[in-house]
Amino acid sequence: MVKNTLALGAALAAMTLAAPAFAKPSTSAKLTVHPVAEAQALDLAQKAIAIRSVAGPGNKTGDVAALFRDSLVAGGFDPAEISITPLGDTAYLIATWRGSDPALKPLVLSGHMDVVEAKREDWQRDPFVPMIEDGYLYGRGATDMKFDGALAIAALLELKREGFRPRRSIVIEFSGDEETTMRTSRAIAEKLSNAELVLNIDGGGGSFDEKSGKPRQFTWQGAEKTYADFELTVTNPGGHSSMPRPVNAINQLAAALLKIGQHHFTPEVSPLTREYFERSAKLETDPARASAMRAFAANPADGAAVATLSADPAMIGKIGTTCVVTMINGGHALNALPQRATANINCRIFPGHAPAAIMAELEQAAGDPAVKFRDVTEGSVASPASPMRPDFTAALEKAIHSVYPGVPVIPAMASGASDSMWFRSVGVPSYGASPVFIKDSEDFSHGLNERTPVSNVRPAIDYYLSLVMDLSR
Ligand SMILES: [Zn+2]
Repeated sequence: MVKNTLALGAALAAMTLAAPAFAKPSTSAKLTVHPVAEAQALDLAQKAIAIRSVAGPGNKTGDVAALFRDSLVAGGFDPAEISITPLGDTAYLIATWRGSDPALKPLVLSGHMDVVEAKREDWQRDPFVPMIEDGYLYGRGATDMKFDGALAIAALLELKREGFRPRRSIVIEFSGDEETTMRTSRAIAEKLSNAELVLNIDGGGGSFDEKSGKPRQFTWQGAEKTYADFELTVTNPGGHSSMPRPVNAINQLAAALLKIGQHHFTPEVSPLTREYFERSAKLETDPARASAMRAFAANPADGAAVATLSADPAMIGKIGTTCVVTMINGGHALNALPQRATANINCRIFPGHAPAAIMAELEQAAGDPAVKFRDVTEGSVASPASPMRPDFTAALEKAIHSVYPGVPVIPAMASGASDSMWFRSVGVPSYGASPVFIKDSEDFSHGLNERTPVSNVRPAIDYYLSLVMDLSR
């Protein structure tokens, strides 16, 4: 590859940015400058943010697909290798860069084009008018994930510009309903089930230290919990409330819910979460939490460690399956015995368990055959953890350390649900590995005034060049 060695000043001058642009990288990494790609990433991100790709009437996701396709074609992708497939009110895009060795299975970069609804009256700025202010890119999708998509596209086009020839085909795809029904996500995973490995550019990422603003840690995701909803129903002939019977549907349901509330699933670790706890313990400032993490990684049956971690809402989901009642409904009149009572139990299932087995365990915990259980989950599928592949972890650590030397790299299990789920469920390893860093307190994805530091552009491009080359040559 031909590295561009323009001086920073010349590089900035070469860019036509309406912005104060790039803050200094906060590490001593010698970042390579890719002025064309950097300018293109910011430009493309802003154009994409301006398109209202929200599910429902007026959904413009297809326009984002057209924007991305046009950029890819202008950058040298073969138009015959790009497909945009409409589905319902949305669409998905798959673009292939053929490798020289057809025997190798493709590397896939996976993202999405849709965004969560955003209302002008709730935001300080128009969510669909991108703006760069004080070093931040503002707008719906700045974090989740039009900026990420633009960075990946710009990086691939930079590789083309520099004359890189992959041995393994590189596929970049964008789903069109990741935030809602995930029908396009599922369709893409089925089409690309021959992939060698997926980089989910919408998962993982880095965090900046709240005070210093320096990179604190980088997390990649190799697993996610399975989302499930179980509906509990108790029915009863009912009657006049002046003549109560011994059995009451609401009482029965309430008793079952209390028992479920007291039920705890057996804590467990996987190779990935063990690594997570071991590495996170080194960064943990609270000694009690750090020692609980180490003890749990060594022995998930350690009662004291389980008690410490279970008491922490940020940790309890990482040590096993959790289920919690989220909705109840019952009765039909103030003066009638309830004929029906229902509740929803929402579960986040540790990879490796079938939802049916978890529902059976809940039924047993409830201990009342009058309480009927039904799996009412929509848009989710059980997925195994992806293996800790040394080729991936080596390429990833090399890429991230080339731009943020020495930053701790931590594997993690997401609480679900991402597009990775669909790939993993068809046997393709998928890794969330977005190079975008942000302060935890500034993560407004799905929320108001979403924004991302523009200082990410330069290291992110460099990261993608390194990672994509290593995984495709
Ligand atoms: Zn997303």
